[in-house]
Amino acid sequence: MNAYDNALRQLETAAKIMNLNEETLARLSSPEKINMASLPVRMDDGTLKIFQAYRVQYNSARGPYKGGIRFHPQVNLDEVKALSFWMAIKCSVVGIPMGGGKGGVIVDPKSLSIKELERLSRAWIRAFRPVIGPEKDIPAPDVYTTPQIMAWMADEFSQLEGKPSLGVVTGKPVEFGGSLGRGTSTAQGGFYVLQAAVKQLGLASQGLKVAIQGFGNAGAVMAGLLFEAGYKVVAVADSSSAIYDVNGLDIPELMQYKASTKSVKNFKGSKEISTEELFALELDVLIPAALENQITENNAENIKAKILLELANGPTTPEADDILFKNKVVLIPDVLANAGGVTVSYFEWLQNLSNNYWSEEEVDKELRDRMMPAWSAVWETGQKYQVNLRSAAFVTALERIDKASRARS
Ligand code: NAD
Repeated sequence: MNAYDNALRQLETAAKIMNLNEETLARLSSPEKINMASLPVRMDDGTLKIFQAYRVQYNSARGPYKGGIRFHPQVNLDEVKALSFWMAIKCSVVGIPMGGGKGGVIVDPKSLSIKELERLSRAWIRAFRPVIGPEKDIPAPDVYTTPQIMAWMADEFSQLEGKPSLGVVTGKPVEFGGSLGRGTSTAQGGFYVLQAAVKQLGLASQGLKVAIQGFGNAGAVMAGLLFEAGYKVVAVADSSSAIYDVNGLDIPELMQYKASTKSVKNFKGSKEISTEELFALELDVLIPAALENQITENNAENIKAKILLELANGPTTPEADDILFKNKVVLIPDVLANAGGVTVSYFEWLQNLSNNYWSEEEVDKELRDRMMPAWSAVWETGQKYQVNLRSAAFVTALERIDKASRARS
């Protein structure tokens, strides 16, 4: 399965539904620019290693490119292209005046020392400096990239420019140009949308059963928010294990446990299950928050959840989308469900450019004020065209990109 093929199929489906202008469709059928580099990095033992790196700049009709950088062994160009396309859609869905970009490095960051990771992060900036910048393209964290990595990147760029240029990347530590609320924003945005969906479907939010695949930035914070709000998180998975407790996992304790053991494996009171068992549990809400292509034609029929909230990017294939829609599973697509991250990234960038920083309450209010209208627009578009919420989100986003493209041409 190729993530970019999936992305293009999603584009075609939405284009047909809304009868998208042919020129806009042609512009969106390939990236505006693909940047590649081989990054030479000195290892601690004195040897030199070369890492393949990417920055894809997909579409800038609505503003500068925006999107994360992923450090992962399975990064490949098609994946980066897909992710950059989804960023263009995502920014548009939540009404942010930015385009879509994405970056990556083929690397297992867990095999690097802190110093090697720093050298790799700085090398990425040196390689892509000509094509990025606060007015051009603003990267951010993604899988296995952290606020610390963003700080090294902002520092490297600032040194090369000879002036503080903190707006070059977002997701930085709060002490170095980061925004309050950025660390929790992806989950927080998803939480607002989930609450709206729960209300729309007439479900009572107390005691709703949830399973989450992925227990990192996105998944673990979401688990915490749901736990606090009275949901019952019965299963979570990370890369080492999937665990289940019919009575609900104690998420604050699990977070401490994971922080000390680096894994959710063998958490007290839980039993180990397979990923496929996790997906097939009797649930109200299933939240993929790890990697793409997890829910496919092979396992979609087994899903019993009423709502599937995609905190991960691209976790569901088009074939699975159709099966879930037929089975009346309300799928809240990644481009809406996880758009809280890029929304607060945009706030961070605004704060950097104005050198004026907002309180946590302001950030949270502004985030809510972006997510709720986005949810309503997507839900109403879904009702209007009688399509699933992914197509509805794409149609909503494409209408805006189309207007910007045509105004410029
Ligand atoms: P992360 O690196 O913090 O966490 C990833 C988690 O997934 C880890 O717990 C890891 O153990 C787990 N994982 C990896 N492979 C797995 C597997 N095969 N089975 C089960 N779990 C597995 O990354 P993140 O920032 O939480 O990102 C997760 C997803 O959310 C990605 O798809 C990312 O693109 C998306 N996302 C993240 C943000 C953000 O702000 N962090 C924003 C938008 C989208």
